[in-house]
Amino acid sequence: WSAEEFRQHAHRVVDWIADYWEGVDERPVLAQVEPGEVAAALDVTIPDEPEPVEAVLADLDTHLLPGLTHWQHPRFFAYFPANSSPPAVLGDLLSSGLGVQGMVWATSPAATELEQLVLDELARALGLGEAFCHRRTDGQPATGGGVISDTASTATFTAVLAALHRASGGTVRTAGTAGTDYVLYGSTQAHSSLQKAAMMAGLGEDALHLVAVDPWTQAMDVAALRRAVEADRAAGRTPFFLQAALGTTGTGAVDDVPALAAVAREHGLWVHVDAAWAGVAALLPEHADVNTGVAEHADSYVTNPHKWLLTTFDCSTSWVRDRAALIGALSVLPEYLRNPASESGAVVDYRDWHPQLGRRFRALKLWTVLRCYGRSGLQAHLRSGIAGAARVAELVEADPRFALAAPPSLGLATFRLVADTGGRPLPDDHAEQATRELMTVLNTSGVAYLSHGQTDGRTYLRWAVGGWRTRLADVEHTWQVLSDVAASVLDGG
Ligand code: PLP
Repeated sequence: WSAEEFRQHAHRVVDWIADYWEGVDERPVLAQVEPGEVAAALDVTIPDEPEPVEAVLADLDTHLLPGLTHWQHPRFFAYFPANSSPPAVLGDLLSSGLGVQGMVWATSPAATELEQLVLDELARALGLGEAFCHRRTDGQPATGGGVISDTASTATFTAVLAALHRASGGTVRTAGTAGTDYVLYGSTQAHSSLQKAAMMAGLGEDALHLVAVDPWTQAMDVAALRRAVEADRAAGRTPFFLQAALGTTGTGAVDDVPALAAVAREHGLWVHVDAAWAGVAALLPEHADVNTGVAEHADSYVTNPHKWLLTTFDCSTSWVRDRAALIGALSVLPEYLRNPASESGAVVDYRDWHPQLGRRFRALKLWTVLRCYGRSGLQAHLRSGIAGAARVAELVEADPRFALAAPPSLGLATFRLVADTGGRPLPDDHAEQATRELMTVLNTSGVAYLSHGQTDGRTYLRWAVGGWRTRLADVEHTWQVLSDVAASVLDGG
């Protein structure tokens, strides 16, 4: 394609995306296909001759759209939002058009420096404190810094590797632990990426010690953590890593970082804070306390703008207080990447900050989002998610058939069916079956999409509000439908 041909095709594609957004509300949220249906309908033979982009769009319309679950649908309330806002799409497009690789500073200096600047700005906006910034404004030497990775799973994995490096006195640089029985801690509600990180770090499946939570708040039990660490030490194991969660995946539970960190400090544990979903809420003055304790106590912290903060996947931002531990764990310098800037020590080379070498210019889309929304736009978006979930919680509490499963948390409400239409308590097995059926019927209706979780073997439904196209009317409409489905499920219909 010539530049002119690209321009024409690109206009066509941008029109397609705008039309998709305008029309997606009319589509079922959840894909309505059986396994293999999409594959059976598509012919992906490489054509002998070039085809026009219209041919791709036609197949997208006919064969792929029916097989997609629409994450940008205003009534997508499952998991957590994965917002792909218009400014983010354009920022991503610019990044693709530039096609630069920022693996070391020298391969595209502005890519590295914009990422440093944007992450410093975001660290300050989220209240993480100067210690996590590449360039401090308080006159202290900068020893930390932030990086954009693909996912929180990667950020957590690298935090584990950095912590292992520190705990081993700088000797562990590869997966494998030289015979030491290292232990990590997270709550029973910790995201599964912690388990995966332990496995990938070569620590074995038993290395992760899951700590009990409070039965109502689902926050980690601080006394139980202390007992676990002491028992492991007494058994000759080597505790080295604690993950605290600010906003768990299940119910959005918030761990008490200062209290947990006090235990961690006594035992020399690295404190990693997983705020993948909730951390960005600290952009709101009224929720600045979400990240309480991070500035003072965390060694590393992760939050995902690709969840609630309007930035097209993938964009996970993480910070470390001591970048030497991270770089010490991961730095490998092949001859072909040697260059005077790296050797001067004056620049950051992001190849040392995560597993992969090549890296997209993701800072561009994040910066585009931050500028095109501005603080006021970002705050309005976050507030509308929180208001939506508060409305869900209000509706649940006003309906005797339902009960909250945990305290509502920011943009997330969790609940289950507990009583029949007359308000009489259901036996546990009946409540369980009715709750699951409610979810299945609602989701297959295509009206909305909710996901689920479990505590103590009891299922609850998760209603996460925070999509960029979601309005309060979408919440109200979904509740109406859900309420009717509940009535029919409870009547055995
Ligand atoms: N941590 C929490 C609390 C999450 O909810 C999730 C995903 O939903 C993750 C980590 C993993 O995020 P990612 O998909 O970016 O690896």
